[in-house]
Amino acid sequence: MKPRTLITGAAGFIGSNLAHFLLERGEEVYGLDDLSTGSRGNVEDLEKNSGFHFETGSILDEEPLKRLVGTVNSVYHLAAAVGVKYILQRPFESLETNVEGTRNVLRCALLYRKRVLVTSSSEVYGKNPRMPLSEEDDRVLGPTQSSRWSYSGAKALDEFMALAAHRTRGLDVRIARLFNVVGPGQTGRYGMVLPTFVSQALEGRPITVYGDGSQTRTFCHVQDAVEALYAMMQSEKAAGEIINVGGGEEITIRGLAERVKKMLASDSPVSVVSYREAYGEGFDDMPRRVPSLEKAARLLDWRPQRTLDDAIRDTADFISSRKEIT
Ligand code: UDP
Repeated sequence: MKPRTLITGAAGFIGSNLAHFLLERGEEVYGLDDLSTGSRGNVEDLEKNSGFHFETGSILDEEPLKRLVGTVNSVYHLAAAVGVKYILQRPFESLETNVEGTRNVLRCALLYRKRVLVTSSSEVYGKNPRMPLSEEDDRVLGPTQSSRWSYSGAKALDEFMALAAHRTRGLDVRIARLFNVVGPGQTGRYGMVLPTFVSQALEGRPITVYGDGSQTRTFCHVQDAVEALYAMMQSEKAAGEIINVGGGEEITIRGLAERVKKMLASDSPVSVVSYREAYGEGFDDMPRRVPSLEKAARLLDWRPQRTLDDAIRDTADFISSRKEIT
């Protein structure tokens, strides 16, 4: 019998890419998404495949979560409120989804004894200046008055819950800490930098670099991320483990703006926007973010294969093709 897999957040950027990947491997894929930040467009192609079963629904509701978890062999839990801007605009709803939603998924997995992969985030490390960031490193966070840190708090609670379910109740769980995943399927609507820069460059609008642009990120192509998630799900060694999933090339945000502009042969000017204008008063950005990928290589024999240029090109192709449809 084909493996049956549930993806929560299947209409999201990473979820829909993962669904394509699992279908290619002959899995029967069940997708659940409330379409809050995910989009119907992301599942349109998937729905042409008879192995894909999509439902619109929330992880905050017991039904259909219970029924779906009961049906499948394993669960990729990707449903979450994501994007710095989205979370700053809806802090309460984001916390509910990211804490209560994960608790519901873990409860169902405990009930039916199913394997779960929980997706967490590099935000968990906060502003720890130690680079590269290893899975055992400290969390360094700002005050609770700043909503920016609520996402980090929620994702850390998810990890605590998952680890507790593993240690005290034997749940077969594994946790991926994702670092700035980019590529086709991602939109700039929720503030993510790469699709925003690509859209601006394609349309000849100013490329908006926040702060002085010296902050760095290490972007991971979604195809690499999906392969890492799959390897984690298959691996017995990953049970009860937290593993960083990220890219290998650190770049400043100003450098990214210049790279996008050059690759897309764009005339867009690069314009500097203050953090206050971009996110409001009191915003605290991470000056650097680089993952240690040593554990992923050791436990999973996984290393990122795609370059940042691949990600820029694939994102531009995706955004251009969507424009032709709409
Ligand atoms: N950023 C930017 N211009 C934009 C959107 C984001 O300069 O139009 C910056 C943002 O301030 C941050 C970096 O790009 O320093 C990455 O932002 P993103 O929201 O993609 O991810 P995260 O902040 O979660 O790393």
